[in-house]
Amino acid sequence: MSKQRKRIVIVGANFAGLAAATKLSTDYAVTVVDLTRHFEWIPNIHELVSGVKTGRDLRLDRARIVSRAGHRFVQDRAIQVDTGRHVVVTDGGRELGFDACIVAVGASANTFGIPGAFSNTYPFHGVADCEAIGYDLRKLQREKQPLRLVIVGAGISGIEALGEVLRRYGDNPTLSVDVVEAGARLLPGLPAKLDADIRKLCQPFPVVFHTGASIARVAPKSVLLDNGLRIPSALTLWTAGLAPTALLRASGLARGNDGWAPVSRTLQSAYCDQVFVAGDAVALPKPLAKQVFHALDMGHCAASNVQRYLQGRKLHAFKPANKPLVVTFGDLQTYLVAGRTVVANRSLAAAKEGLYQVYMAQMSPQGVLQSLPGVAERLLRSWDTLLKPQLAQII
Ligand SMILES: Cc1cc2nc3c(=O)[nH]c(=O)nc-3n(C[C@H](O)[C@H](O)[C@H](O)COP(=O)(O)OP(=O)(O)OC[C@H]3O[C@@H](n4cnc5c(N)ncnc54)[C@H](O)[C@@H]3O)c2cc1C
Repeated sequence: MSKQRKRIVIVGANFAGLAAATKLSTDYAVTVVDLTRHFEWIPNIHELVSGVKTGRDLRLDRARIVSRAGHRFVQDRAIQVDTGRHVVVTDGGRELGFDACIVAVGASANTFGIPGAFSNTYPFHGVADCEAIGYDLRKLQREKQPLRLVIVGAGISGIEALGEVLRRYGDNPTLSVDVVEAGARLLPGLPAKLDADIRKLCQPFPVVFHTGASIARVAPKSVLLDNGLRIPSALTLWTAGLAPTALLRASGLARGNDGWAPVSRTLQSAYCDQVFVAGDAVALPKPLAKQVFHALDMGHCAASNVQRYLQGRKLHAFKPANKPLVVTFGDLQTYLVAGRTVVANRSLAAAKEGLYQVYMAQMSPQGVLQSLPGVAERLLRSWDTLLKPQLAQII
């Protein structure tokens, strides 16, 4: 009789969770739980605002990716990782027993308890959010209503959203955009020259930046700042802030004030040896930017360490790689940021597009070769809608 396989449950299957799932051997009985069926390529969701990408371009069937890796996919919401009984409890009433578990539930949007922010703004966190924004912007334009927008947050998401609004609606005479940022400058945390460059690029457009500004409340058609300024708004985009998901605290994996899950350098939970945490959900001993490439690397590291743990072998420390960041600003500019160095060139948009294309091809449920027709179709669409118009402007 064959030996019973040890059970691994992965909770959350986007970047970190899927990276772990595709690395785990079928020597283990692996169950992957996620509340939605589709993997989403989040770094390009801002392109749904202008329509240079569609939701279909940014989604893959994660159930098929998981089954291609030889594992079981369960579409359900985990409501608790019970670290005492070693089961993951789901909304649908399942109890998934584990010998080891990887938690990769990412982060959720944070509206900081500001009155009206949750109900009167468009979240900017996933494909469906940005499809809704793109749809409602087109509707306003179709109905010849003023395109009066407020973008809350001038971090990477807010600035990339602004770039897409200007790409598509920059020549609409009714456009006005107010960008509200609590930090002292645009793209806080990145080199200051980016702030200056973006402001310069926006000069020909009706864009007003409110930096160092906090929001008192959001109403359906306006945003009120702490300083008393009321900004009219037909559509308010909320791109600011990340919060840990409730599952971490409900499972006792987060016990401090900030709500993220503390781990050792091996990604093992500070509170339960059988649980590893990867991606945006972690609080590493040395804090790390919440980025896709770290999430992917952590997913691989967690998978390797879970297997080592189950084999009673020594665990490896996670070593974050220093990778440059690409920030696109519609068809006006693209920045490559490596530490304090910034390179700006519109043709760099191809770099971000290339990363996306390669990843989607690798993860495609059909495998790289069989997915080539799909890749070719996506590349052609990108060429027509994104890269060709930009190259035409450069030449
Ligand atoms: C608008 C935006 C733009 C970004 N742009 C960039 C960029 O340009 N470059 C970059 O490097 N990073 C970017 N990021 C950050 C990047 O998207 C994250 O770092 C990355 O998604 C983290 O991966 P993750 O797997 O940890 O979490 P996620 O990708 O958030 O995945 C978490 C998964 O867990 C699932 N889940 C959550 N709770 C449960 C539950 N209770 N039960 C079951 N499943 C659950 C979710 O459905 C989801 O599939 C951006 C983020 C946002 C929001």
